[in-house]
Amino acid sequence: MNFADSEIVSAILTKEHFALTKEIGEADFILINTCAIRDNAEQRIRKRLHELKALQRQRQWVKIGILGCMAERIKNQLMEEEENVSFIVGPDAYRQLPTMLQNVNNGEKLAETLLSETETYDDIDPVRYDTNGITAYISIMRGCQNYCAYCVVPYTRGRERSRNPYTILREARDLVDKGYREVTLLGQNVNSYRWKDNESEVGFPQLMEMVANVSPLLRVRFATSHPKDLCDDLLHVMARHDNICKCIHLPVQSGSDRMLKLMNRHYTAQWYLDRIDAIRRILPDCSITTDVIAGFCTETEEDHQATLQMFRQVRYDYAYMFKFSMRPNTYAEKHLQDDIPDDVKTRRLEEIIALQGELALENNQKDIGKTFEVLVEGVSHRSDKQLFGRNSQNKVIVFDRENAAPGEYIKVRVTRCTAATLIGEIVK
Ligand code: SAH
Ligand code: SF4
Repeated sequence: MNFADSEIVSAILTKEHFALTKEIGEADFILINTCAIRDNAEQRIRKRLHELKALQRQRQWVKIGILGCMAERIKNQLMEEEENVSFIVGPDAYRQLPTMLQNVNNGEKLAETLLSETETYDDIDPVRYDTNGITAYISIMRGCQNYCAYCVVPYTRGRERSRNPYTILREARDLVDKGYREVTLLGQNVNSYRWKDNESEVGFPQLMEMVANVSPLLRVRFATSHPKDLCDDLLHVMARHDNICKCIHLPVQSGSDRMLKLMNRHYTAQWYLDRIDAIRRILPDCSITTDVIAGFCTETEEDHQATLQMFRQVRYDYAYMFKFSMRPNTYAEKHLQDDIPDDVKTRRLEEIIALQGELALENNQKDIGKTFEVLVEGVSHRSDKQLFGRNSQNKVIVFDRENAAPGEYIKVRVTRCTAATLIGEIVK
């Protein structure tokens, strides 16, 4: 999401005659886009700001700005505590950046953090920098108002709003024309995407269908789905279109009903498993990935065991696994206590990671011998004689280069694997 936002910021600034540089030593302005989801994300930014002081001693005119969720969350604190920060811009105020940069150059310190109920940056064509030219993100909505008890997003990114579908289609078409072959539609909960005008109403399944129809050459992915809103209509649309990738990211957060209720997730473990059954029934070759939090307030060993059990039942292909981090302003901070000792959180997280490692390896082993259509993305990090790409299930596959080139669709047969990667050979 931040990556997509940085591309919007680049578009806004390059239109006003600013230019991007990849060399930090050439920059007159340094814009740091930030995340506030866990405390360690914010600590990393603090560290980065500290490191930049050396550069600013040599280039004293350089101005540093903080963008995004951390800017939104602690604007005053940042201004007071980080003396080398000159400007602060929240996620809905990026259009003001060109004017701000002019004024900042005159020595003012500035902050714009008003959240909007309507800003979707509809009309802005993101400038894709640092891209492989093959895969791109398209932001389809902003904000979130689900208020999960642990989560800071509703406070930093404002109310949920969906973007005009026709501007999404225009962006997708433009990407295909430029040679891109895969787009990922982004939102905090894409299943609640809804656009209405006098003539029509578009929900997420229809939007997916519209984007899939842009070109058979374009693969379409999406993230993230809230389990409470994942409907069968979407699964049927996915089944009908070969170019909609068979991969669903369905954050479970916990396997315990008591925890899920306390987290305000609006589903039970059984509801979640029923959604998994629907995916397996309608999309038998779909991969499933998740997010999970270890050590949320009051979590018992029994709750933790329920999470491990959930992992064993679903057999996720990949998981993002986190230790609970108490965030200011959230329901948890106001009403609950961060009562699980850090060593217990760490141990529970390690148990989940170890189990997931085994499950991912077993899942990958089942792919040995299968042939997948792979979109080639680039040269393998390990050897320039090998390329890598991903299959529809979003698994990374590495293979000998032969005559293939990035941007092509090829068939690859899997011969070996690790827990993280499939290894294969091109099928002629
Ligand atoms: N909108 C997405 C999640 C975005 S945040 C969704 O609802 O699925 C990405 C992930 O960060 C969450 O799924 C959750 O697992 C994790 N997360 C959010 N807040 C957290 C916190 N306070 N501590 C630890 N992990 C957190
Ligand atoms: Fe946060 Fe929940 Fe919204 Fe996801 S759905 S962004 S976890 S509040």
